[in-house]
Amino acid sequence: MIKEYKTLSGSIEKEIANYYQKYGVDQVVEYRTLVQAMDSADRNLLYKDFDSFAAAHPDLKRLLPVRESIYKLNRLEGLQLSVQMKQYGSGSIEQAEMEKVLQQAYEKGYLSTMKGLENTGSFFGINESVMKATVNTQWINGENYSDRIWKNKNALINSLNTDLRNGVIRGDTYDDIVRQIRQRNDVNISNAKRLVATESAFVMNQANMQAFMSAGIKRYEWCSVMDSRTSQVCKDLDGEVFEFDKAQVGANYPPMHSWCRSTVVPVENNSAKAQASELIDEAKEHESQVTSDLSSIANEIGTKLEGLDFRMKSLSSLTRKISNEPEAKMRDVLRYTNVSDSENTVKDFNRCVDKFEGRGYNISAVKNYWNNPDNPYNGINANFITSDNYEFELQFHTPESFELKNGKLHELYEKFRVSDSADEKASLTNEMFKLSDGLRVPKDITQVR
Ligand SMILES: [Zn+2]
Repeated sequence: MIKEYKTLSGSIEKEIANYYQKYGVDQVVEYRTLVQAMDSADRNLLYKDFDSFAAAHPDLKRLLPVRESIYKLNRLEGLQLSVQMKQYGSGSIEQAEMEKVLQQAYEKGYLSTMKGLENTGSFFGINESVMKATVNTQWINGENYSDRIWKNKNALINSLNTDLRNGVIRGDTYDDIVRQIRQRNDVNISNAKRLVATESAFVMNQANMQAFMSAGIKRYEWCSVMDSRTSQVCKDLDGEVFEFDKAQVGANYPPMHSWCRSTVVPVENNSAKAQASELIDEAKEHESQVTSDLSSIANEIGTKLEGLDFRMKSLSSLTRKISNEPEAKMRDVLRYTNVSDSENTVKDFNRCVDKFEGRGYNISAVKNYWNNPDNPYNGINANFITSDNYEFELQFHTPESFELKNGKLHELYEKFRVSDSADEKASLTNEMFKLSDGLRVPKDITQVR
């Protein structure tokens, strides 16, 4: 981008040099020479530049004067229009490059955060529409990065045009004028650098926040880079803890100012983790007896236990669940899945209940999702209690409902969970129900209640 600015500045200098060569005497151009009408050669050249600019940037044409007004322009105005078109052309490149840089900042922020966290689900994907909305947020003074690029551009064009006119009126030499243009250009480059740094900091910190929040983390700690350049406001905030729900950029969330290097780190929910770890210890005490009883029962009935390796919920997913629903009772820390074809699902379920009862277990709850038209998930989720009062879950599935639950349905649900677009959510919901409606319903399923 900086190279682009240097090239642009060079091409403007060259154009001014041409004017000085053509109209100047002793290194100076007289003002009255420049306010004369353009000759037809200059005018034709300007028409040509105008047309090719309009063809290359149809979106920017509206920023220029109408084509018909070109014939009225004097030499100075012609030169100014030419400078304006060159600047707009570079603005268009700047905008495209900036968009790319910001999307990369988002991806980097989101993915690195997700990888660094323990308590994440299996689904890491970036939500495209959330990313675009974040990059385009009008986060300060009602403007987004693109508004600021064009605002800077227009300010630069005005200054250059004023420099040019005043320079000629003062009788500046070509060297004087070029010196001013280069100064303007240097300021422009440092503005652009500041814009990239600050906008990237905004996007990166937003991506971090979205990743932390979707992992169920509620609070963050302010983290300043402490050195001689650190601002007072960021020094004061270092180490302070806030809630994501109440985060406000510029007040308690970075960036606080231009060039701000502050970031945040998650404050993990330690009590949730401690609770989860206790529940897992408790599950471990009962697991081997339950697994052995259930395996015998499955053997006697002749059905299959699926996903036995995953019978214990992991510490990370349990921690996440506890952070998200601190009041809920966790009844599936230990959970099993029985799979029977749709002919036998209900029969096997009933036999299984009998067999468990024969071994001193009690059934404590049954949720038959096949009978629930409001939920795209299908299966019988039953809870049993051991004779020493430990509750666990046993799900009954058909091979198809089991595969759908772990595959496509899970994937769609994770997308649904992170989406904040009502339209996208509705279409994901539709898709989930369509898949669910395609399943073969187990025989006599309405009898299970
Ligand atoms: Zn700062």
